[in-house]
Amino acid sequence: MARFVFITGGVVSSLGKGLASAALGALLQARGYSVRLRKLDPYLNVDPGTMSPFEHGEVFVTDDGAETDLDLGHYERFTGVAARQTDSVSSGRIYSNVLEKERRGDYLGKTIQVIPHVTNEIKDFIHIGEDEVDFMLCEIGGTVGDIEGLPFFEAIRQFAQEQPRGDCIFIHLTLLPYMAASGELKTKPTQHSVKELRSIGLAPDILLCRSEREIPEKERAKLALFCNVREDAVIPARDLKSIYEAPLAYHNVGLDRAVLKAFQISPAPRPKLAKWQDVADRVYNPEGEVLVAIVGKYTQLEDAYKSIAEALTHGGIQNRVKVKYEWIDSEIFEREDPAPHLERFDAILVPGGFGERGTEGMLKAAQFARERKVPYFGICLGMQLAVIEAVRNLAKIENAGSEEFDQESGKKRFTPVVYHLKEWVEGNRTIKRKTTDNKGGTMRLGAYNAVLRNGSQVAKIYQSETISERHRHRYEVDLGFREPLEKYGMIFSGMSPDGRLPEIVELSDHPWYIGVQFHPELKSKPFEPHPLFADFVRAAVEQSRLV
Ligand code: GLN
Repeated sequence: MARFVFITGGVVSSLGKGLASAALGALLQARGYSVRLRKLDPYLNVDPGTMSPFEHGEVFVTDDGAETDLDLGHYERFTGVAARQTDSVSSGRIYSNVLEKERRGDYLGKTIQVIPHVTNEIKDFIHIGEDEVDFMLCEIGGTVGDIEGLPFFEAIRQFAQEQPRGDCIFIHLTLLPYMAASGELKTKPTQHSVKELRSIGLAPDILLCRSEREIPEKERAKLALFCNVREDAVIPARDLKSIYEAPLAYHNVGLDRAVLKAFQISPAPRPKLAKWQDVADRVYNPEGEVLVAIVGKYTQLEDAYKSIAEALTHGGIQNRVKVKYEWIDSEIFEREDPAPHLERFDAILVPGGFGERGTEGMLKAAQFARERKVPYFGICLGMQLAVIEAVRNLAKIENAGSEEFDQESGKKRFTPVVYHLKEWVEGNRTIKRKTTDNKGGTMRLGAYNAVLRNGSQVAKIYQSETISERHRHRYEVDLGFREPLEKYGMIFSGMSPDGRLPEIVELSDHPWYIGVQFHPELKSKPFEPHPLFADFVRAAVEQSRLV
């Protein structure tokens, strides 16, 4: 039976609850416990799949094909535990389950209410798989006081009440703002936030206090007194230069000890932190630096490509270099020559994306990288565009394009090199989709195998013949272009096991030009960098020596 840690937030949003939860998960693992992390999001979307990246940042995809919150990415990067469909839930999903049951008659004619029907649904969700791990860490999205959050707070209150005494603890993450005028860290917002929590029946065991400065002993004692927590359970969480220092930093301020103490477990052996020491050492003491251009369209919001940024950092960790990256809005290249913009970079990455906007500019970036022999990494849309670019400029089919763009504009302008896939094989099932299906869940989602061509560059990089990677897309490169493109050195070096769907392309006469239909960034970890990102950064290091 698992013990449960509930993590809530107060005062302001974006304090890094996900990161704190993930780092705590890593620390509990370092003490020999097994963990699973979960995110309960109060918003009403059924899942983040249909949300714009501007709204909610990246959509993180799990092996079992769930489109989830980006915090699940942090969980995986810190714990290495592959997240599942059942690790992320929203109010929308909870209500939709409840309403489905109501329509089926499962409630036997009862009046359906937030308490108990919605709260029961939330509690059932928290219980899933509880026998598999020592600790289940559940993060509640949003901040205390949000209207949508109330059923979740009520559900975890009931949950703790129903579990054996001492099996659940509550961590509350808040902010201590610094007032320059008086030179003080202010504790009042935290006091109010805890008051709010207590008014709905939740008493935090641990306060995690974000602040830019050291918390003086006096303020710590005051927080303990007014918020009714032990003084050694007021944990300072200072800002860090790298998120990968978080497990070490939280250990140094006693978070893991405080958590075990709250469960009345005496913290036995020293945690095994060598892995994190090595990661932090590599992050803080790089031996060089490379500069990567990320040419995409959701460039205003870094979170839209969170996992890509992290995976690049991991590639740097592997090569002991600092990877700096700049986001470039591809639309610029529709007006201006890309060369002056891109010449100063050691490598170019074109990430995933949806819709036609910005794609002509991304094609220019792909062409620049191909012709100038600059390392190019195309991910999902970035692979599709690499193929379209080759068909246009090498095979000379000038109007080569993707069905996605024609479907969007309702005009027939392109020769489709990339087409809308409506039927594919998953395990031993055939999945069929229509263009008119509703937006949620019409994509090829989750883990699929690919078979790598013997002797190809990717087979060397992966050191393997078969790989499994996560997907999230509707369109596929048309196999009909394999032969025409091979003449020009573009090899389809990874294919779906049935040989029908191109998964990877590479250029044979180029130092590093690889496009992948999947999202390798989702599986990269600081202590286990993804081979493609590790090798891409290696190629960037070599390129930087040429410049
Ligand atoms: N829009 C493309 C598709 O649906 C690519 C998706 C992506 O980059 N994730 O196939």
